[in-house]
This record gives sequence, structure tokens and C-alpha cells, in this order.
Amino acid sequence: MTRTFDTIILGAGAAGLFCGARAGERGQSVQVLDHAAKPAEKVRISGGGRCNFTNIHTRPANFICENPHFAKSALARYTPWDFCDRVARHGLTWTEKTLGQLFCDQRSGAIIKLLMDEFEAAGGTLTLSTTIGAVTHADSQFVVETSAGAYTARNLVVATGGLSIPKMGASAFAYDLARQFDHAIVPTRPALVPFTFSGQLKESFADLSGVACPVDAKAERGPDFHEAMLFTHRGLSGPAMLQVSSYWRETEAVEIDLLPGQSVADLLADAKAAAPKQALSTWLGGLFPARLAQQIAAWPSIPATKQLANLSKQDITAIADALGHWKIVPTGTEGWRTAEVTAGGVDTDGLSSKSMESKTVPGLYFIGECVDVTGWLGGYNFQWAWASAAACAGALA
Ligand SMILES: Cc1cc2nc3c(=O)[nH]c(=O)nc-3n(C[C@H](O)[C@H](O)[C@H](O)COP(=O)(O)OP(=O)(O)OC[C@H]3O[C@@H](n4cnc5c(N)ncnc54)[C@H](O)[C@@H]3O)c2cc1C
Repeated sequence: MTRTFDTIILGAGAAGLFCGARAGERGQSVQVLDHAAKPAEKVRISGGGRCNFTNIHTRPANFICENPHFAKSALARYTPWDFCDRVARHGLTWTEKTLGQLFCDQRSGAIIKLLMDEFEAAGGTLTLSTTIGAVTHADSQFVVETSAGAYTARNLVVATGGLSIPKMGASAFAYDLARQFDHAIVPTRPALVPFTFSGQLKESFADLSGVACPVDAKAERGPDFHEAMLFTHRGLSGPAMLQVSSYWRETEAVEIDLLPGQSVADLLADAKAAAPKQALSTWLGGLFPARLAQQIAAWPSIPATKQLANLSKQDITAIADALGHWKIVPTGTEGWRTAEVTAGGVDTDGLSSKSMESKTVPGLYFIGECVDVTGWLGGYNFQWAWASAAACAGALA
């Protein structure tokens, strides 16, 4: 038996459910299919269980994409405040944490309930635990073969997300389907992911495991991120490093300013005026957590035992360089196992920025994380899920 709908959506995550609700409200009959046993599991674990559902400072510059203009239209037409209005209409409240990040006070389950309530109210049908097989397109109809039989529709929306966290059911489905319809894929890589190191650096970072400090950090081709860095048993994590990881490529260095916004020369001049006999190592101990200060004191460019009064101009330049431009080359990242998102994906060159529709296959749409649009840490990825889903739903014929 083949069931026919206006629109089939593959993937019952943030983007798929949101798109389904908006399409249903426009009078479309909608079938969402997913291989998982429960919908929107990534929403559940997001934001440490509180779902950082948007960021009020969302700008196109907060997204990584081969075409930096692609996300502009969808983001402008569905803003963080549009989603906040929806959250408020459901009687939910939020708290703004740092940097415009909005977290749901009622926890992430309440956001899933919002998505499901709206989807069901709009008349959508959700079928879970379904393996998706062959997808074909003929006579302006898509046919989706599944373990629960065949479905047909004139619109097919692919919202199966990226590759991060395979144990939660992440799959390459969207990329394979895109290739099947001759769409290009921007090479994928784990993003928002901790860095790993080997050898001496790994050992010294393991000794510092649990130590956190504010830094300015950047990859060779990315912007500066002023956030916290955390030392771990395997390397470096914390928001600053997760952000940098999205821009990092293998063998490239990461540059870290351990005293962000401060001039080492000025700090040393003030300290020297107050306590000229103080050893440089003692000064470091006043600036950094003890274990980190100890390690920095052992760096070759740091004359740790010298008194502040005896530091030469060259010493001060070397100290400023070591603390302000600490360059290290990660061995790799923790990979898909812990990456919060996938950078790369369905090439936006083949998609309409207004509707997310394929430029070559009418009725085929890609939304959410499977598209080559990757948000920074802090609610941007859900904002892209909502905005791309709304753009698509508004265009479905
Ligand atoms: C630990 C963690 C925390 C996060 N926290 C935040 C946060 O606080 N704020 C934020 O903005 N972003 C956060 N993210 C990122 C965010 O979760 C994703 O960007 C977002 O969920 C993407 O939505 P999506 O609908 O495109 O894909 P997904 O939410 O991944 O949904 C894809 C759906 O497709 C289904 N699927 C996949 N393959 C198949 C297949 N072959 N057949 C059938 N179904 C399939 C999956 O089961 C899933 O239900 C976090 C991610 C992780 C991993």
C-alpha cells in the first residue's frame, strides 16, 4: 500500500518537526519519517538538558558556509524573536546566559513538547522506528521506500541532520541522497569539538585537567573567540576551543592569548612598581590557576626566577609573546563521537537561499544541519534549524 502526501519530511529532529508544523498550518498533508524510536533526541541533550534554543545576537557572520551570503535570507525572515514568541505562547520561559544564549527554564523536554504539539495540531503524521530505503523521483512525485511500506509526495524535505554523535542515529543519509540527485557536498568535518594532543603537550594538559581560564583564541582562518578554555585529559576543550575547532583544519596551529584584553608590558610595569623584588614565577601565580602558572614558569621563554626589576626589554617582549601568542598544533579532535555539529554538508550552490529547494530537482529541499551552514556555539544551530525550516515550509507548493 502506498500512502500519498503533499510533503514527506525525512528526519524528526528540530528542523524536520518545525518544518512539518509550518507546512501543516499552510494546509499541506505532511508525513515525517525517522529511524529513531523518539523524535528530536538532539534537542533533548542540547544545552546540557536545557536547550539553548536560540541566540538573540544571531547574525549571518555567526555561521560558517562556503557562501557567506547563503543564510542571510532565511535568518532575516525568521528571527530569534519569532521563536521566542512561540516559546512564550506555550507558557515557557527562558534565561539568557552569556553572549545572548537563551536557555529554556523548563528544560529541553518542553521544547520537544512544543515541537510535537504544534506538529500534531497542524495535522502532521509522524512515523518513527522506520528504516528508509530507496528514494526515486518520476513524474513530479517522490517515492520513498521504507520498512513500513512506500510513501509518495510531490515534495521531499531532507532533514536528517549531520554526522555528529553516531550512537544517537546520526547518518550520512542526507549527503548520499544529495549525491544521488547530483548535488555537490562540501567535505564534512566534526565541529564544536574538543581538541586532542599527543606527546609532551598531551601529558602537560592531562596534568592540568579541570583547570579553566578565559582566553582569546583563534584558528588560522577564523575569528577571535573570547571565552573560557578548559584543559582535559586528552587536550583542550571549553567554549573557546569548541568555537575554534569549527574553523580549524588538520596540521594548522591554534593561537591563544592567555591574558585577553590586557597588555603584558603594562601589567609587568605595574607589578614592578609595586613589588620590584617579586620573582616572575610569583607574578604568574597571581594571574593564573596555580598548576597552570607552574607550567608556564617552566616554558623556555619565561625567565621564571628573575626579579621583576631585572627583566630586560627582550625578556618582556618574550613573555608578552609567549602569553599573548601561544601557538600550538592539535593532533586532532575528539571526532564525531562528541562533536556537537557537522561542518560542511549539502553545497548551498545547488539550493535556493529563499526556499532551500534544489535548483535542479523541483520539490526536493534540504534543511537544518545537513546543509553546509554551521552555527557557532550558543544557540545558533537551532536558530538555523528553525529559520531554514520556516523558509522551506513557506515555499512548499
Ligand atoms: C550534545 C549536543 C548539544 C547541542 N546543544 C545545542 C544547543 O544547546 N543549541 C544549539 O543551537 N544547538 C545545539 N546542538 C546542535 C543541534 O542539536 C543541531 O544543530 C540540531 O539538532 C540540528 O537539527 P536537525 O533537525 O537538522 O538535525 P537533527 O536534530 O540531528 O535531526 C535529524 C533527525 O534525522 C534522523 N535521521 C538521521 N539519519 C536518518 C536516516 N538514515 N533515516 C531516518 N532518519 C534519520 C535522526 O534520527 C534525527 O531524528 C547540540 C548538539 C549536540 C550533539
